[in-house]
Amino acid sequence: MSESSPLIHWADITADRIIKQRGDKDKYVLASGITPSGVVHFGNFRETITVDMVARGLRARGKNVRFIFSWDDYDTFRKIPVNMPNQELLKNYLFCPIVDTPDPFSEEESYAAHHEKAYEKQLERVGIQVEPIYQSKKYKNGDYKEQIKLTLKHRDVIAAILNKHRSSPLEDTWMPVSLYCGSCNRDKVKNIKWNGDNLLNYTCELCGHEGQEDLQSTSRVKLPWRMDWPMRWVYEAVDFEPGGKDHSSEGGSYTTAKEIVSEVYTGSPPIYLQYDFVSIKGAGGKMSSSKGDVITVNDVLNIYEPEMVRWIFASYKTNVDFSISFDLDVIKTYEDFDRQERQAYGAEPANEKKVAMAKRVMELSQISAMPTELPIQPSFRHLCNILQINDGDITKIKSNYQGQIKTQRDERRLEERSRCALNWLRDYAPEDFKFTLNKSKPQLDLGNDQIQFLGKLAQLLKDEWHSFSEPESGDKALHEKMYEVIHTVEGLEPAQAFKALYMVLINKEKGPKLANFIVTIGQERVLQLL
Ligand SMILES: [Zn+2]
Repeated sequence: MSESSPLIHWADITADRIIKQRGDKDKYVLASGITPSGVVHFGNFRETITVDMVARGLRARGKNVRFIFSWDDYDTFRKIPVNMPNQELLKNYLFCPIVDTPDPFSEEESYAAHHEKAYEKQLERVGIQVEPIYQSKKYKNGDYKEQIKLTLKHRDVIAAILNKHRSSPLEDTWMPVSLYCGSCNRDKVKNIKWNGDNLLNYTCELCGHEGQEDLQSTSRVKLPWRMDWPMRWVYEAVDFEPGGKDHSSEGGSYTTAKEIVSEVYTGSPPIYLQYDFVSIKGAGGKMSSSKGDVITVNDVLNIYEPEMVRWIFASYKTNVDFSISFDLDVIKTYEDFDRQERQAYGAEPANEKKVAMAKRVMELSQISAMPTELPIQPSFRHLCNILQINDGDITKIKSNYQGQIKTQRDERRLEERSRCALNWLRDYAPEDFKFTLNKSKPQLDLGNDQIQFLGKLAQLLKDEWHSFSEPESGDKALHEKMYEVIHTVEGLEPAQAFKALYMVLINKEKGPKLANFIVTIGQERVLQLL
């Protein structure tokens, strides 16, 4: 994209806004973050990919970008998600830092690390590179000690800002810091008292410990979210950070952070972009990390190619809420993607504006370089049939696409899309979409007219197969010929004829559209069954 191209996509429009409002800089800091309190679910992904798209928008304008990803792993372990193993073990760590809670899967060094690593790997799969910042390390290192003192000094200013948005004011004993007890490591301390310099005294509500922390050396003091967020905007000089609806509401943490950042940390808030929620359709409403069974980026990647996962977000404006389908609409989503991809490559007519948007959306959807030519587009619906006819064997179906696979990108497309189709058939497809092709002629109780029809059809397929296997017109020719055959059998209703044919082929009364289905199965196997 050149500097002079018109700005049509939200990622470019936002990049342009950042440059205009923050000044022309060589490098811009973009931020996002998550508390790894459980499996990072797909709902969290919208923020990450929103930042990634804007980063691409800035890079397209020749700018350097630092995409920092804050893992808030010094937050408190407040709730044990029901989908975690070793619940008894985890119970012992309630109210401890997430980073000090053990991994219940015994794979990573902590509970936090387990979920962080899993999400980082998923981001790689969709072409997102971040610079992770582990907040537990920053706090434990004492990197924020001056900011913590500054926060304590402004206790009354902060309380006044927060009270404006509260129905009942904060108590006189409230302090703008939290602290993990020096004896039991839980954040259940009360009576925090600051001596105006480096010392904090407190009492633990749980174990009764009376402790003292020195701000110059402590690793136990932390800023709660409403202070932590604006503090880090200034600490990292953040230029852009989006936020969800929940943060953006009146009295939400963005509203108060905007005031706190200027009054306490003498900085300004980053450019903001509110994004809406994403929901899941056709997967049983599993979206809350506290309820277990959440949908992750990996789950979506099981059904959609990596480029399509990016495309779904690139093609919706950030202020639009939408759902990602796991049901029959998966087919429509693939068709929509294929259409826009063809428009981007001029293989399907569209007006100038649509073509320009299609090109930009496709660029933003790439994991690797944008292919110079339109990649192969195997129809998802057709793939489902071919794969089932071939017992789900991806290598067997490649011969169906001979001549169309020209590049490595084509090969990857066919393989990834096939794998997605198989996963979808196994996990989400409606029952009437699934079939197994009979291996031999089944024993069926058919009427004379049905038997007659099958015999005549077999003869037709023997004699005229070459005309039915024509790529463009074959389906239609066979479809018409089948009706002709039906009409030669006295008293036979088309519905009865087709039912018999489906029974012979797949032992079901319904199935994929017959003409195309027969051609895809191939002459030899169909005749064997007839
Ligand atoms: Zn304690």
